[in-house]
Amino acid sequence: MDISPDKPALQVLLCSPRGFCAGVVRAIESVERALAIYGAPVYVRHEIVHNRYVVDGLRKKGAIFVEELDEVPDDGQPVIFSAHGVPRAVPAEAGRRNLLTLDATCPLVTKVHREAEIHHRKGREIVLIGHAGHPEVVGTIGQLPPGSVTLVQDIEDVDNFVPKDRTNLAFVTQTTLSVQDTAAIVERLKARFPEIVGPHKEDICYATTNRQEAVLRVAPIVDAMVVVGAPNSSNSQRLKEVAERAGCPRAVLVQRAADIDWSFFDGIKKLGVTAGASAPEVLVEEILDAFAARYVMNVETISAAEEGVFFPLPRPLRETQAAE
Ligand code: SF4
Repeated sequence: MDISPDKPALQVLLCSPRGFCAGVVRAIESVERALAIYGAPVYVRHEIVHNRYVVDGLRKKGAIFVEELDEVPDDGQPVIFSAHGVPRAVPAEAGRRNLLTLDATCPLVTKVHREAEIHHRKGREIVLIGHAGHPEVVGTIGQLPPGSVTLVQDIEDVDNFVPKDRTNLAFVTQTTLSVQDTAAIVERLKARFPEIVGPHKEDICYATTNRQEAVLRVAPIVDAMVVVGAPNSSNSQRLKEVAERAGCPRAVLVQRAADIDWSFFDGIKKLGVTAGASAPEVLVEEILDAFAARYVMNVETISAAEEGVFFPLPRPLRETQAAE
């Protein structure tokens, strides 16, 4: 590092855990493995994970990203479903067309799909806590017949919700929500509908919870917080909000070092850094290097949890790997 006496000092508190989660690693490896087995092109429905750098890297290797199956030709090449999950209509349509499909839906999203199915089978009306339009929410709602699931985004939605039978309700949640906001929504649901059933707390995944916990420790004691991540990444957006609510006066989402508006950081002495679950560590390093070019940095890691979660690849990719 180039240490110049003219550079101001900056203490950097690096959140741990940060960046890639087990579901994202599995999804990216699924595309890479499919390219190795089947050759290019491999079609991917929706961005495999919400990160432009990752998507561009896979595109260069031969992945073609599409939003819907009608953009996939019948050329025998596989189509991969992204980590966010898909509505049932998508594999059904792929089956009708005899497309070779590989499902990179995160197992923790699939778990929510199964919970919703079980509630539905038991005749319960389902409330999904989540953000309208997010692909995971579209996928979860699409597991069940239309009208089976009602989306609530905030406490006001809970207050306006009119169930068909208030004694026969269940709730599930998106995996990448704010832990604090969701707890408040769940509390209101339980207050209005004491008989509602659901998971012990919510379905927010370990990676979202741990990354938010680390931000909660760092955000109150820094002058600014950088969240490395994409604007369409739900868990990255939540990290920025968690930092702001924890009292950090300046929090910003940054995709690449080149995007940084340096005036935003004028006068800071202490900086917190984290990364959303779809942001690769190489981008954290790139951004730290950009700060190191302007400040004399002292970096300390603040750890909120140890993570050792691993998800095996989708079965067809695993079996081919084992056979080699
Ligand atoms: S953020 Fe959570 S639910 Fe989403 S891919 Fe990662 S582990 Fe799975």
